[in-house]
Amino acid sequence: MLDVLIIGAGPAGIFTALELLRNNSGKKILIAEQGSMIDKRSCPKAKTGKCVHCKPTCHITSGFAGAGAFSDGKLSLSYEVGGDLPELIGADYAQKMIDYTDKIYLEFGADTHVEGLEATEEIKDIRRKAIQADLKLVDCPIRHLGTEKAHELYLRIQEHLLANGVEILPHHDAENLIIEDNVCKGAVINGKEFRAEKVIVATGRKGADWLENMCRIHGIQNEAGVVDIGVRVELRNEVMEKVNEALYESKLIGYPKPFMNKVRTFCQNPGGFVAQENYENNLAVVNGHSFKDKKSGNTNLAILCSHHFSVPFNEPILYAQKVGQLLNMLGDGNILVQRLGDIRNGKRTWQKELSQGNVRPTLPDAVAGDITSAIPYRTMISILSFIDQVDKVVPGFASSETLLYAPEIKFYSNRIRMDADLNTSVKNLYCLGDSSGWTRGLMMASVMGVIMAKKLLN
Ligand SMILES: Cc1cc2nc3c(=O)[nH]c(=O)nc-3n(C[C@H](O)[C@H](O)[C@H](O)COP(=O)(O)OP(=O)(O)OC[C@H]3O[C@@H](n4cnc5c(N)ncnc54)[C@H](O)[C@@H]3O)c2cc1C
Repeated sequence: MLDVLIIGAGPAGIFTALELLRNNSGKKILIAEQGSMIDKRSCPKAKTGKCVHCKPTCHITSGFAGAGAFSDGKLSLSYEVGGDLPELIGADYAQKMIDYTDKIYLEFGADTHVEGLEATEEIKDIRRKAIQADLKLVDCPIRHLGTEKAHELYLRIQEHLLANGVEILPHHDAENLIIEDNVCKGAVINGKEFRAEKVIVATGRKGADWLENMCRIHGIQNEAGVVDIGVRVELRNEVMEKVNEALYESKLIGYPKPFMNKVRTFCQNPGGFVAQENYENNLAVVNGHSFKDKKSGNTNLAILCSHHFSVPFNEPILYAQKVGQLLNMLGDGNILVQRLGDIRNGKRTWQKELSQGNVRPTLPDAVAGDITSAIPYRTMISILSFIDQVDKVVPGFASSETLLYAPEIKFYSNRIRMDADLNTSVKNLYCLGDSSGWTRGLMMASVMGVIMAKKLLN
């Protein structure tokens, strides 16, 4: 019998195990992960030049360190960024735990430099322009690990956990939870029962569907949250220079007319590369990376539009999947890319036109086409209005040559009901990180893991 069974070896799961070890809990901990150990994770695209749709799991989104391993490792050090966990546990405590968890990252070799700490004249000027454009600029210091450095850091954590007796089972896929009389007793993993005192589900965005299904089957209380659908924008570094240098990442939020949906910038990668990742059902979605040492001439960032649903339809994940599938269909299974000018002119983009401007796509296997044929009207109009607002802060942002890749979708919509002590409606079952719907970033997911461990220590 295990003391703690953790399903999913992303930041939320591994920081639970790490904090338990750091406090000499003596607990018998097992982590089951459907992907590979971190030292066995490598995306074949580096050699093949294009995505080969790895089976059974994508190395980018699955494996030890979760979606974080290949992310460019931007640790957001403000409670205002990374999800809604502060609503649950309180902003002050959330900030305290971010500062605490940041120290653990530093112990494992994170870069000591933090960007966006000072309120310089440049930042004041950016804020002034944001106010004039009806946008909110969120302050958020960032510790940037860099994609390859993040990989090394999580490898050190993996080695530390293994050296200290945490059992990690790669290629172990949780199929079901064992819940009897509303008490969680374990999980069925690779067809075998694993019994545990406490079961922690930390399956990330990739496992959000699975967890939603578990909620349906076992009556775990949850609620439909928001879903974010949008595009990844790519433009020349020269356009973004001022913001990149002053802030590294500009977190801008607006509620553009006429729909007033929340629209925001997210995951900005100066000198970065646009990337493709694959989810269940072969859904290809776009994302972005930036490396510490390898730089492109472009900056990419996401623009995401939040959608709420109520009655009669409240399945945001399904909605976003359908939109994603439609975009993939138009791109023949690939990411679609279109120039902003072509969208304004009501025409598709042709592949040969992509080399006409200053900005050259950093995702070469993206297919030029017409994203407006698949993105819902409400989403598209909100994004285009937002781009015009950002153009007032960053002149040139709404240039005709600016590239829009789609679909960029964030699957964190199923929110598990829990109290401030992270108790769910099922005894001994805890749900953490992005799959719980309460976090959407490396630091906040890690923080939720640390808080979980502290609770288990009491
Ligand atoms: C390309 C990319 C770039 C990103 N960049 C940043 C960034 O710069 N800064 C930032 O803050 N965030 C970034 N993110 C988001 C960040 O990586 C996630 O928010 C974070 O990893 C969430 O942690 P988690 O532990 O909740 O889940 P995840 O990291 O997704 O880990 C969940 C793990 O559970 C496993 N799993 C799923 N289902 C099962 C199952 N049934 N059985 C067993 N295992 C299962 C998965 O294989 C996965 O390894 C990025 C994400 C991506 C994909």
